[in-house]
Amino acid sequence: MDDPQRKTPAVRRLRDMLERCRRAVVFTGAGISTESGIPDFRSPGGIWTRMAPIQFEDFLASEEMRRESWRRTFGLRDAFAEARPNIGHHAVAELVRRGTVQAVITQNIDGLHQQSGVPAEKVIELHGNNGHAACLQCGERHELDVIRQAFLGRDELPECRLCGGIVKLATISFGQAMPVGPVLNAERETRECDLFIVIGSSLVVFPAAGLPVLAKRNGAGLVIVNREQTPLHDEADLAVEDEIGPFMAQVVGLN
Ligand code: NAD
Repeated sequence: MDDPQRKTPAVRRLRDMLERCRRAVVFTGAGISTESGIPDFRSPGGIWTRMAPIQFEDFLASEEMRRESWRRTFGLRDAFAEARPNIGHHAVAELVRRGTVQAVITQNIDGLHQQSGVPAEKVIELHGNNGHAACLQCGERHELDVIRQAFLGRDELPECRLCGGIVKLATISFGQAMPVGPVLNAERETRECDLFIVIGSSLVVFPAAGLPVLAKRNGAGLVIVNREQTPLHDEADLAVEDEIGPFMAQVVGLN
């Protein structure tokens, strides 16, 4: 039974903000997917405590770096491929279904918002998607199963079948330009909303982390749900240092 008296003050406050808002946007980072078994970057045990990220210019300049990048892709991919949306994703999907949340802007590349039922046109992927690859020259889409067979089976680096260009996972690396369309959409949604809810981001990766600042400057309420402090905690109208799944489930009434 969903008894409002048993909710914590933070749960009640966010429910209240969601009820009063005209248009909400959710902005997610790797933290929403850790409960699905995908490690984030910066937490203890996170991906970067084990390997340094490959910069875009190194990927372009060195065949060995491209090989290392594909080795990582096919090593990590099994963890990604097996991951399923968790209760945090389902809570966000429910807010979209109710019409409270108009868009989900995500830094994640795992596709779990779409899998949890958020329509693809409502998910704005700022850092791409790791479910396929693309030619850096002409943009042609390439399927990972084909690349995996050639790379793991015959040690072949993928090359574009149309133009011979370098093929890369369709995610945005450090040093690589952000995708123009998604960035413009994200900025528009951020300007139009009156409630901006950050879920599971350390808010240190720019330009993505500039969006909550833009929202706040535009007069929107700012909520941050993250187990550790972020550089924007002091500016938030509500900052909740808690586990995402259990907290968001209470907010939405999923448990
Ligand atoms: P980050 O690793 O910098 O920060 C994640 C934050 O989430 C941390 O502050 C951590 O304390 C918090 N967190 C982790 N699990 C949590 C939980 N269960 N409850 C509450 N808080 C939790 O991630 P970021 O801000 O998204 O930025 C790093 C970059 O990592 C992004 O650009 C993204 O593209 C990429 N990334 C994506 C995935 C993915 O798609 N799932 C995974 C790893 C990294």
